[in-house]
Formats: sequence, C-alpha cells, structure tokens
Amino acid sequence: MSKFKVPNKPNIYQNFVNGSYVDSSSNETFERVSPGHGNVIGKYPLSNKKDTDEAISVAKKTFKSSEWSNMAGSDREKIIRKAAAIIRERAEELALIETLESGKPISQALDEMEWAAGIWDYAATLARHIAGDVNTNVGSDMTAMIQKVPVGVVGMITPWNFPLLIISQKLPIALAAGCTAVIKPSEMTPGTTLLLGGILKEAGLPDGVVNILSGYGDPVGMTLAASEEVDMITFTGSTAVGKHIVRAAANNLKKVELELGGKNPQIIFPDADIDALIDAVVFGIYFNMGECCNSGSRIIIHESVAKGFEEKVIEHAKKVKTGDPLDPSVKVGAIINNMQFDKIMEYINSGISQGATVKLGGKPLDSEKGNYIEPTIFSDVKPDMDIACDEIFGPVLSILKFKTIEEAIEIANGTEYGLSAGVWTKDLDTAMIMTRKIEAGTVWVNNWMSGYPEIPFGGMKQSGLGRELGPHAIDEFMEIKSVLIKTGATPG
Ligand code: NAD
Repeated sequence: MSKFKVPNKPNIYQNFVNGSYVDSSSNETFERVSPGHGNVIGKYPLSNKKDTDEAISVAKKTFKSSEWSNMAGSDREKIIRKAAAIIRERAEELALIETLESGKPISQALDEMEWAAGIWDYAATLARHIAGDVNTNVGSDMTAMIQKVPVGVVGMITPWNFPLLIISQKLPIALAAGCTAVIKPSEMTPGTTLLLGGILKEAGLPDGVVNILSGYGDPVGMTLAASEEVDMITFTGSTAVGKHIVRAAANNLKKVELELGGKNPQIIFPDADIDALIDAVVFGIYFNMGECCNSGSRIIIHESVAKGFEEKVIEHAKKVKTGDPLDPSVKVGAIINNMQFDKIMEYINSGISQGATVKLGGKPLDSEKGNYIEPTIFSDVKPDMDIACDEIFGPVLSILKFKTIEEAIEIANGTEYGLSAGVWTKDLDTAMIMTRKIEAGTVWVNNWMSGYPEIPFGGMKQSGLGRELGPHAIDEFMEIKSVLIKTGATPG
C-alpha cells in the first residue's frame, strides 16, 4: 500500500511577490483536478496583467538596488545550496504535489526532486566561479577587462511535464549569475513552483529577487515576453508557443533562450546488443507517460534485426505497470488532461489509418478511471507518417526500418526537431559517423537519457535556442561588458 494519498481537501496556494505570499489582485482563483483521480487537488491565484506588471516592477527595482548582484558569489552560493537542502528535506511533499497535479508516477516524481536538488547544488558552485578576463595584449598603454554582468530581470515560463526540475534548470543558474526573476509555471502544475518562493525565503534569499505568479500563458506569459522591463525570457514548452514568445520578445529585442519539443530517434545497428538496450528503449518511451521532450519515440532499426527486436520490446513493454500514479510500483501514470488524451488517441488512429500496425496497446486503459492510455507500439511505420514526424507526447513508440547507414541518417534527421538522439552499436567508426551526422543537441551512444548538471542540454533546429546546464549555462544569464582602460605607455 502506498503511503502517498489523495488529500481530502485541495491545497490552497498564493503568488509569491516581494518576499510574501499574496492573492491575485482580483482575488480570482482557478483549480486543478488530478488527472489520475478526478479530485480537485489545488486552488491557485488567477493572475492578470496588473499582477504581472507589479511583479516585474518588483524584480526590476530589486535588480537595480544591486543587493543581490553585488553580493559576493560565495554568499549567493550559501543561499542557493541551502535551497537544495530544503528541496531534499521536503522531497516527499513536493513529489506528491507533482504526482497529483501531473499524473506522473510517484517514484519518478521522487527521482525528479533529487535531480532538481542536484542542479541547485551545481548552481551554488557556479555562483562563486563567475570571472571575466583581462587582456593586456592590445597595446602597452591599454588594459582591457572583459567583465561578466548579470542580464537583469529574467522572465521564466515553464511547462507541466517536469515542473520543479525545469524551473531548477533555469532559476538557480540565473540566481548564481545575480539576476532577479519573475516566474510563470504551467497552469496545470503550479504547486511546487509556488512553494519554491517559501523555500527560497527560508534559505535566506532577499525579498523581491524571485517572484512567482500562477495563471495562464495569456496574459501572464505574454506580458512577461512583451514587457520592456524584462531583459530576458527563458522558456520551456512547445515549439508553437516558443515562436509566439520570440515574436513578442522581438519588440524590445530581449534575450531569449528556448527549450522546445523533440521527436527523438534511437538508431539501432545490427551489431548492437539487443538484450542490453531493451530496458533503455522501454524506459525511453514510457518514462513520464511519454510526456517528455527527450522521449525516444522513434526506433530506427536495421531491417536484419528488426523482427527479433520487435518481439523483445513488446514482451518487455507488456510488463510495464500502468495505472494509479500513487502506487510506487506503477511506471506509467495518467495523461495530463483530456485535451492531451484526445490528441494522443488521434495520433494512434492516424497511425492505423495511414497503414502502420499496432503491435501493443493502442487503447485507453479500461481498468482505471481517469486519463490512462496503454503503452503502445507501432511497427511498419514509414518516415512520412504523422506518428513518425510529430511530437505525440504520449506513450506511443514507432518502429521504422533502414537498410544503409545513409538511410538511417536521413530518417533520423528527417523531422523539424533536433533535441536528442541515441545510437546503438559496438562499432566505434559507426558511432562516430553518427555522432557527427545526427542533428541533435545531445547524442547518446549505447545509453539513453543520461544527464548531469555539468553537461549542457538543449536543442538544434526547431527544438530550441541556447543551452541549459553545464558550466556555460551561466553565460546565458550574463552580458559581456568590455572595459578599455588607457594608461601611460609601459616603458620598454
Ligand atoms: P506549452 O507551450 O503549451 O506551455 C508552456 C508554458 O507556456 C506554460 O506555462 C503556458 O502557460 C505558457 N504559454 C502558453 N501560451 C503562451 C503564450 N501565448 N505566451 C506566453 N506563454 C504561454 O507547453 P506544455 O504543453 O506545457 O509542455 C509540453 C511541451 O514542452 C512539449 O512540446 C515538450 O517537448 C516541451 N518541453 C521541452 C523541454 C526541453 O527541455 N526541450 C522540456 C520539457 C518540455
């Protein structure tokens, strides 16, 4: 029996502005119903343009006061590291909220809290390593200082699939850089991000540095993207909304960093160890119900080994337990909402009508109330079918076949996306050709979805702009300022 339960009453949340929890100016709220259980589990402020403008003005005033950006990196480090510790202490509470709001399995939500805390720890270290450069090689009477300065107020807009993890890929790094922030989490999963305000206050963050508003993309997200007072937007979400953000941000040419969708190929060569990769393939597609930007949703396999692989992947996928996300043994929980559920079912139907073969699943799960879809596998998929090109964001795996390495590369690169890719082979030459030819921000060789705070993550093509994580992530939140100091010439 799970120790995690659906609460009797919904949690009541408030916005976090200037160091205090407050309602929206209209006092209006909106609710979230747990996709796995059908209960109202949260009530959140419905923020409007006025709330957003006020939060932006607090963040601007706080940035201009320089209290945060002038603080020694070692002091910013302590606050960010303390936040990591509080996230760990409160991991079960935070994970339960994420599971109730998103439908993800509780075991995966708990892992997510640890990943998130790990990034806060890494960012804490980065806070004391920001340093510019000095160039004395431009003339004997000139010294050039290349300074790194925080970009200013950063608007952060996040999606529903990994709420605390994704804000943790942005906020601690921006804080390490000395920026202030206004954050809008997804209206589907605002709970843990709103609680982050209190966590940061407890960790010692000065008031006004971080401000968090729940509400809808329009008006809150749009106001952030269009505001003259916001110096940068970092957005994670769909490619379609990412393009709106860029257009809105173009009015005052603010910096934009985007983490967008993916249709990620896993390319399997004939020499790959099929038994060793099956787990990774099954995890790669069904993790987080396939509602994952890194979902390995396209298998591109050499025709000579396709039959044996199909049998094994089906046998494995049959064992993946689907159902109540609060059950610790469940691996595939509920789909986020009715709209996403209908979208996934439409893609499944389009796969069937365009000639692919359903080898497993393909239907809603009858045994549960709520938005559940059986783990699904399609074979006989052709590269131009919708299920092979579009990001489905659901538990649907497509298997495509290739004959030559050139064909594998063409299929793998044949979508608008370029987020991540996997290559399975024992041959070093094949692996290296693939890592050079594949258009993706991350290429995994003989593994899938490994990731570390110290390794950059982001997309090529329509999967994004810029990179999160890694030592250079901090540069996304900084401007480079060149200071040229003329002195008397140095005598020879
Ligand atoms: P979404 O684009 O619908 O929403 C993302 C955020 O944008 C939400 O907070 C939403 O309220 C806000 N928003 C919506 N319309 C807006 C507008 N007009 N102006 C400003 N903000 C607006 O995405 P989603 O459905 O929440 O998330 C799923 C998508 O996110 C998928 O495409 C997935 O691939 C992508 N994603 C990418 C990564 C990555 O790192 N590359 C990670 C996770 C999710």
